[in-house]
Formats: sequence, C-alpha cells, structure tokens
Amino acid sequence: MQLRYNYRVYPTPVQQASLARAFGCARVVFNDGLRARQQAREAGEAYLSDGDLSKRVITQAKQTPEREWLGEVSAVVLQQALADLNVAYRNFFTSISGKRQGRKVAPPRFRSRKDNRQAIRFTANARFKVLDNGRLRLPKIGDLAVRWSRHLPAAPTSVTVIRDAAGRYFASFVVVAADDPLPPVDAEVGIDLGLTHFAVLSNGKKVAAPKLLRRAARKLRRLQQDLSRKQRGSNNRKKAVVKVARAHTRVADSRRDWQHQLSTRIIRDNQAVYVENLCVVGLGRTRLAKSVHDAGWAQFVQMLEYKAARRGRTFAKTNRFLPTSQTCSTCGRIDGPKPLSVRSWTCPCGTVHDRDVNAARNILAAGRAESLNACGAQVRPAPLPAPRREAGIRPDAVRSTRSVEGISVP
Ligand SMILES: [Zn+2]
Repeated sequence: MQLRYNYRVYPTPVQQASLARAFGCARVVFNDGLRARQQAREAGEAYLSDGDLSKRVITQAKQTPEREWLGEVSAVVLQQALADLNVAYRNFFTSISGKRQGRKVAPPRFRSRKDNRQAIRFTANARFKVLDNGRLRLPKIGDLAVRWSRHLPAAPTSVTVIRDAAGRYFASFVVVAADDPLPPVDAEVGIDLGLTHFAVLSNGKKVAAPKLLRRAARKLRRLQQDLSRKQRGSNNRKKAVVKVARAHTRVADSRRDWQHQLSTRIIRDNQAVYVENLCVVGLGRTRLAKSVHDAGWAQFVQMLEYKAARRGRTFAKTNRFLPTSQTCSTCGRIDGPKPLSVRSWTCPCGTVHDRDVNAARNILAAGRAESLNACGAQVRPAPLPAPRREAGIRPDAVRSTRSVEGISVP
C-alpha cells in the first residue's frame, strides 16, 4: 500500500527563492488551466482535454514573452500542477453526476499567493534523488538538507515539497510499502467517538484528549483573539498571523502524534476494529462544530483504516443510523432517546449502562453482524490512497515513549 513519509527540510536562502519561483509557476499553470477551461465553457465550447490543456498552458505558453519564465522550473512540477487541476475537475464531475459518495465537491478554485500551504510535486520522471550524503536533490532547485527523523522503508515514487503557514518546509515522500501483518489476537473492539471523551472503547476504556493538547488549543484561541484586535495591514498584525500559524501547526502536530500512538496501540491489541460511521461534515455545521473539529476524528479514523489494512486487521465503519446510545447492549431493547446529560441508565432488564461504553458495545456488535452479512468476507477496503500526512512531523515526538495520556478504566 502507499504510505506517506514526511521530513523537515532546510533549504538555503537561495534554494528558498528557487522554491518560491517553483510554487509560483505551478500556481500560474494551475490558474491558467482553470481559466482556459472556464472560458471554453462560457464560450459554449467542448471541455478542453487534459492533453490539449497541457499543450496550451505549458508547451505553447513557454514560447510567449508573458510566460517564458515557466522554463525556469522543472517541467514535471508544471505537469503535476495540471494533474491536480484535472483530478479536481474529475472529482467535481463525479460528484455532480452522483457517482461519488459523500459530501458534494465544489468546482476547482483559483490558487492564491496568499494560500497558507504552498506545494509542488516531483514524480520519478523528474529524476529527484536522495543522495548518499542524505541530501534531497531536486531538479532546478538544488540539494536540500533533510532531517531524516525515521527510516524511509523503500525508494519513493514521488516527493511533494511543502511550505506551511509557519514558514517551515517539508518533503513528503510517497512510498509503496509491503503489508506487514501482525500476529493474530482474539480481542475485537468497538469505538464510540464522543464529545465528553475523545473515544470510548467497548472494553470499558475511556480515552480523553491529552491535557497538553487542550491547553495548546486554549492558547491558540487566545492568539486568534489577539490577532482579531490588530489593525489590518499593520506590522503587528503580520507578526500575530505568524504566531497563530505557528501555534496552529504545533497543535496539529501534537494531535497527530497522539492519534498515531493511540491508533497504533488499538490496531496492535485488536483483531477487528469497528467505529461508527459518523457524518462529521454534518456535525461540523452544528453548534458542536468547534469541539468536533478540535477532536479531529476523521484523521483518527483514517489512521485506523490504513493501519488495519497494512497490519492484517479487520476495520469497518458501522451504519451510522443505528441508535447505539439508545439500545441496551445486553438485551437489545431500544429504550428511547436520552439527552446528552444522561451519562448512565438502567435498562428494564436490570443492566446498568455507562452511556458511552454501552454505545461502543453496540458498535462492536453491529460491526460483527455487518462483517458476517458480508459473507465473513472482505471488510477490508480497496487500496487506500496515501494519507495526506502520515508520519509525525516532529521526530522527537514520533520516537517518544510517552504513553497515551488520559486512558482511564472506570
Ligand atoms: Zn437490557
């Protein structure tokens, strides 16, 4: 399966300037391509094929005085920018035709110099290379210093170079890694993702988001308030923007590290893992939005999914319309809706339930039943795309033996 490995890179000032030029050229090609398709559509012409578009906004554009500087960057970077545009269009088309599940996909939008995340991609065609001295050679950029926080398990098929909002640079390699199954275990688990706890397991374990993370999130909110009081266009505002961006990346990094540890542990300890198929997009529009997004469930579920696939475990999302918090996991009686404030209840059959643990048990039961219905077969998903950000970015955090905070057995 495809995995992503991220490493911090440290370009020199000259290399930073070359990267800035490459980000700019990729953006211009993307935007030129989008504009050409929009204009063709407005003029009632046929959809421009990928090949025609590439000829027009790359090959021919390089011959014109307005775009001749496109020749200063690797052609692969420009082709990959157009490839991104083509994928964005295809996602949009399959979404409006109903062939694509999930939330509606908007048509592609123009990229801006002010976007927080700037990225370019080099494929094998670009002949990027990891040198013996550990540097990453990128065509027309130079040899970048890399901090190899962990071992790259195989030769990468592509590398994306990213500049984040805090001004840091990363190289994100896509590697095709062989499956690495773990020895089988007997335990199976259902997971209820909730607001009072980050996750509650059917075995009774409750996992709270670490205090560290909650504190960092509070600090981030305060910095955002500071920022909102600064005058537009002022230097103080610019400084505040960078501060917010830094705090934001720190929160996101430590959340990801923590979720990696938790998901690795759950996959290691259980042969099958079931979670409720939450409609996170739907929840995101409600009053609960803030805490939902803080919790980063979608990222966590994705980690469980690809780790399960790689480690030979079963993973499935259960039907999200099951009344998991209303059903007694002992006798199966549906006891009617319970407000969020009800933390425990007693079923007429005599069982006293912790609300969340009961829900997790129901998710486990539903997951088992649904796997059996699928003829005891493949709950395992089709080949997964490389997760957008796999490895922990900070190597110290990745290697740390810090235990998962906040696990408590009631
Ligand atoms: Zn009961």
